[in-house]
Parts: sequence; structure tokens; C-alpha cells
Amino acid sequence: MYLYNSATHKKEEFKTHTPGHVEMYTCGPTVYHFAHIGNLRSYIMEDVLEKYLRYAGYDVNRVMNITDVGHLTSDADEGEDKMLKGAKREHKTVMEIAQFYTDAFFDDCRKLNIKTPDVVQPATGLIDDYIRIVSKLLDTGYAYLAGGNVYFDTSKLSRYYVFNDHDEEDLAVGVREGVEEDTNKRNKNDFVLWFTKSKFEDQALKWDSPWGVGYPGWHIECSGISMKYNGEYLDLHCGGVDNAFPHHTNEIAQSESYLGHPWCSHWFHVHHLNTNDGKMSKSKGEFLTVSLLESKGYDPLAYRYFCLQSHYRKALVFSYENLDNAVAAYNKLVGRIAALKPEDGDVDQAVFDEYKAKFLQQMGNDLNTSMGVTSIFDVLKAKTSDATKLALIGDFDRVLSLSLLEKAAAKRAEDAKAAQAAKTEGGYTVTGEGDPAIDALVMQRYEAKKAKNFAEADRIRDELKAQGIEITDVKGGASWKRV
Ligand SMILES: [Zn+2]
Repeated sequence: MYLYNSATHKKEEFKTHTPGHVEMYTCGPTVYHFAHIGNLRSYIMEDVLEKYLRYAGYDVNRVMNITDVGHLTSDADEGEDKMLKGAKREHKTVMEIAQFYTDAFFDDCRKLNIKTPDVVQPATGLIDDYIRIVSKLLDTGYAYLAGGNVYFDTSKLSRYYVFNDHDEEDLAVGVREGVEEDTNKRNKNDFVLWFTKSKFEDQALKWDSPWGVGYPGWHIECSGISMKYNGEYLDLHCGGVDNAFPHHTNEIAQSESYLGHPWCSHWFHVHHLNTNDGKMSKSKGEFLTVSLLESKGYDPLAYRYFCLQSHYRKALVFSYENLDNAVAAYNKLVGRIAALKPEDGDVDQAVFDEYKAKFLQQMGNDLNTSMGVTSIFDVLKAKTSDATKLALIGDFDRVLSLSLLEKAAAKRAEDAKAAQAAKTEGGYTVTGEGDPAIDALVMQRYEAKKAKNFAEADRIRDELKAQGIEITDVKGGASWKRV
């Protein structure tokens, strides 16, 4: 597989430390609120990546953290504590908030066919591991104590800015507007590994440490969790592009200083979902969640389809109009698959292998999901049996996870039921889309014709036409459809 690597700024052949095995880590949600659909775009694309790797024959160990402690709203060491903010807003304890929104996150994932990673670790569960890492960083001179907190000293690194796609000054924490500079820091990008003093005196979760009672900084949790469950060599680290700096940059700084060797070889960043007014956020405009989309009648999988239609490294613009287009395309695709006959022919292995190889190659080109979706249309057009087409579509859907065969089977069953429910009287059968009122009108038209009341028959036909219904006379009856 060829995959863009944010650390080298180029598309390169994906290689793993142990051949055939992938150690994969994903930055998980901060569970102080519902995830918005922009956050979920990242999880959808990471899910497709994981499933593709398994499909391509790799054995994958995927680990994800749940940020249930700390995490400040500015994504730096300043700003507000998101977990505390959530607890205050809802008059609950921090742990109650964490449990509630962790469950809500996985509910959303289930609706979007996002597989749960092999290991999911709440940050609060590995405090001893962070303390061990921070202790070693202090011993080896990569960290220092100041004002009661432990800081990472970024001046000790020859190369700190790893994802240097941006102007360093723009990224520098201290110069951001409205951010109070922490005067304990020796260098403006130094970051906290362990807090004992912060402006959040009412921090609910605190642990004993060699430096006093306190809590870990945000970045250390991902290094600690990954090293515990992925080992010392990580093949693939994923996250939203807004995590690249400072979060991932700091993860690399502390992990490599701790380990004494390179840590993660490949970085996968999913770009933003924007609205017409700019980057989506929880505080701006309508708060777009999966539940909101459902309440408006959208199938969450149509949103997944919407995401798959565009490349993960391009910003995607969300609007209801764009989503409606995706819904129409998704439903049409399901309709075409439903029209295939499972009993038609046998699976042609040669055709199957040919299309599968094409799909592997297209998706293996930097996870080109829109080409992956196009592959399904290619299969539908192929000159082969319906059985082969259905086998291929089911196979591709192991990666795309659009529930295509299930939806098509449901539609087939629905259509069959509608056909059964159709009216038969005096040897005349009306079939349609399963609306008894329309069936009855079509039957009345037949009765009128039989009684030679052609004016009445035409009137009924016109009435149906006005409702957008077209009648076709067929042998032994009539069928109707909405046009
Ligand atoms: Zn992380």
C-alpha cells in the first residue's frame, strides 16, 4: 500500500516494523461532550484504513485512548479544562461525564459501522506508566521542574517541529492570541508532563506522584498508552489534522526521548470537515451530531457514504444539500444492488479475482475511497453473473462498511412484500410500490374500463398522473410506479 506520511510529507510505500503485522494507534475522543460529525469523519477514515490493512492481509493491533482527564480547550497547556467544563455544565462528576460521553461516542460509532479498536484505554487507567516515563525524562535531562509542574524541555531536541507544514511562529503557543503565557517555561513550546499547580484548583482527579499530588498533561497519555499496548515501535499513528501540532509533535518529542530510538514510522492525518462558514466546531452554529442527523431523517450510513466520496487529505464541506446528494446516490446504489438476483449464475472466480485486484490497488493508492466506491459501480456494469457481482460487492464492503448487501436484501424483501400486498380481483392483478390506496384506484380504473365507462377510467388515470404515478398495462393486469 502507498500512503501519505505527514512526517516525511510524501506518499510512500507503507512498511511495518514486523512484516505482515501493523501496530496502529488512534487518538481517541475527549469525552466531555458529544462528538460532532467532523470528529467522526476522522474515525470513519481511520476505520476504513484499518479494515483495508486487514483486507490486504495484515494482522493489525489497534489501540485507542479515551481522554477522561485534563485536556485543555486551547490544545496547549493553557485554556480551560474541557472535562471540568463539561461536569460544571451538567452538574455531574467528571467520571459520570466521562462514562456518559464514552458510551455516546461508541453508540455513534456503531451507527456509522466503525469497528471498536482492539484496545480502548481510558487515560485515567495508566497513571503509573506516565509517572515512570516522566521520571526517566527528568533523570535524563529532557524534563525539568518549575513552579511545581514538570515540563518537557524542547530545546534538548535537534528537531522539534516534525510536521513542519506551517510557519513555526504561527504554531508557537505563546504567541497565540488570548493565550496566557506560562512564565515557568524555559522555551515557549515546552509543555507540561505533570501538573501539581495549575489554575484549576478544583481539578477533581488527582494522583500522588514523586512531584506532589497532581495529574498528567494531555500529551503524555498517548505515549504511555501506545507504548504499553503497541510496544516500542509504532507503525501507524492516526488522528485529525488538528492533532498534528502540538499534540503529535509533543508525543514524538517525549516518546523518542524516553525510548532513545525512533518511535512511529507513519503518520496519518485526516483533514477537516468544514461548513460553509469555516471549520466545524462544537461552539459555532448548529451542533452537528449523528443524533441530530437521525432526527432529521438521515441514515447515518449515508453520512459515511458522503465521507467516503472524498479523499481524507482534502477538506470536505458539509451542507445539507451535499448530504442530500449523498443520500440520493447511496439509495440509488442500494436500489441497483437490490435489483441483482442472488440466484443468477455461479461466482466466476476469474472475474472475482480481477475486480478484487483492481479494488486492492485503487484503495491502496493513499486510501482512495472515492475510487473504492466507484469500483462498486464498475462491478455493477461488469459482464458477469449477478452472483459474481454480489460476491464482489460483499467483499469490498468488508472495507467500506456501507451495509450494502444487508440494505439491498432488506429492499428486496420490502419490494416482494409490496408485490404480494398488491390487489388481485377477477383475474386482474395490480402491482406497484406497496400503497393500497393507489392499488385500489388502479383497480377502479380497470372496473370502469370493463363497464365501458372510459371517461371515468381516463379521469382516474389523470388523477394518478397528477400524483406522479404512471400506470403500465401488463399481461393479466397493470403495474404502477412513482416517476
Ligand atoms: Zn493522542
